[in-house]
Parts: sequence; C-alpha cells; structure tokens
Amino acid sequence: VNSYSYSQLSAAYRCNQYFKLLYVDRLKPPQAKSDALHFGSSMHSAIEEYLTHGSNIIDSFHAYWSIEADKIEFGRYSRSEHENMAEILLTRFERKYAKKIKVHQQEVRLFGNISEGIRIEGTPDLLGDYEGVPSVIDFKTSASRYPKEKVFLGEQMPLYAHLAKQNGYNPTQVVYIIFVKGQTPGIQVLTFELKSDYIDKVLANVRQQCENLEVIRANNSWTRNTNSCLMGERKCDFFNECWKEQSSNE
Ligand code: SF4
Repeated sequence: VNSYSYSQLSAAYRCNQYFKLLYVDRLKPPQAKSDALHFGSSMHSAIEEYLTHGSNIIDSFHAYWSIEADKIEFGRYSRSEHENMAEILLTRFERKYAKKIKVHQQEVRLFGNISEGIRIEGTPDLLGDYEGVPSVIDFKTSASRYPKEKVFLGEQMPLYAHLAKQNGYNPTQVVYIIFVKGQTPGIQVLTFELKSDYIDKVLANVRQQCENLEVIRANNSWTRNTNSCLMGERKCDFFNECWKEQSSNE
C-alpha cells in the first residue's frame, strides 16, 4: 500500500514526472544547500533543542550553523549578518514567544489514513498548546512578512491536524511563527482556527489527489508539466535528466 506525505503531494502537484523521479525511481537531486535553507534548518534545530531539552538557544544555533556554513555561498546577507539576525530573532523568541508554547510532541513522524486503502504520513514541526489552545505549530524563516491569508492556504497544516487527531491529539488551530529576516528582523505570528468542515474540504482534495496518483502509478502514465521546468531563472533539479536530448542538440 502506498503512503503519501505532504512533500510527495506537492511534488506531484508541481509535476507528475518530478514525483516519479523523486519517489518512484528514487533519484537524488543534486543538493546545493542555499544560505536560506541552511539558515532555516539551523533555526529549526535550535528551537527544537531549546523547547525539548532547555538547551541554550543561541549556542545550539551556532552548533548547527557552523557544521555547514563554510561550504555555503552567501547571497544577499553575509555569514555574519545571518548570525546577527539569528541571535536577535532567537533571543526575542525565547523572551516573548516560547513561554506561550506547551509542547506535546516535536518533529514526530505521524501515520494515518484518509480513506480505506489510502495511507498518509507527515512530521509536524510541533504539536502543543499555544496560549492554551491545542495547536499545530509551524516555524518558518522568510525574507518578508507573510500575507495573513497564507495561514489558511495550503494543505499541509490541516493534513497534520488530521494525522494528529488520528494519533490521539486534537489541535483546533494552526499557528505560524515566522522569523522574518532583514535589516530589522522580526517575528510574525499568524493563527487560524481549524473548523471540521474546512479540514473535510482539504481532505477531500487530498484524497482525490492520492487517488489520481494511484491511477497514474498503475498505468505508468506520468505527465510532464513543462511550466514547472524553469521557475524564473532556477531550473528544476531534474532538468538535465528530463531534457538531456534537447540540451545536447543545442
Ligand atoms: S524538468 Fe520539468 S518535466 Fe522534468 S521533472 Fe522537472 S518539472 Fe517535470
């Protein structure tokens, strides 16, 4: 039985061929870690260490950050600017926001289903109370503030809420805690109440997507979404794999 995660579903939304190469053929795309990605994952790890073990949040950040910071090519912000931003943001998080959170679980893989025969799985950043309300909490790092609509768009959080419920925890809201980089770094919090009819709508959509994928898999009929091959100047990770014949004709 196939099991689908949010990452798999978003890969398939992007391009069925992309999904196939990544999750059926299990090709590994070339992994060039960007400064934004490494900054985000180091922030995440520091928060997790702090909330789980009470570790020093700034020391934890530097421990994770220094593992790969030497290998990264920095763009808009230098290494030291990233480090300054992290220290400002994490100090503010510790002082103002951490006390609002009571952890139930962090980074735990959850398994469930959305209908008989369709299994789903996912790893929410954090399940726990936020200001006393059972929540599914997602930590983001971003170059700009999120529009407020962002919190109710996307299937990831309702899917995690559904998985949490099947695993014995019932979140009633989504919380995005967004660490916004910039000359004056700041923390933005967006919350959204999770109503059951909203979750049902999202799950119906996800169920349909999973069923479509099951048919595509059974028929081995993978379509290519050529609109996704180039995103601005950035090539899809599998561009060379997909278009090697055309590229060699140039
Ligand atoms: S290069 Fe284009 S067709 Fe190939 S996997 Fe990527 S998005 Fe799909």
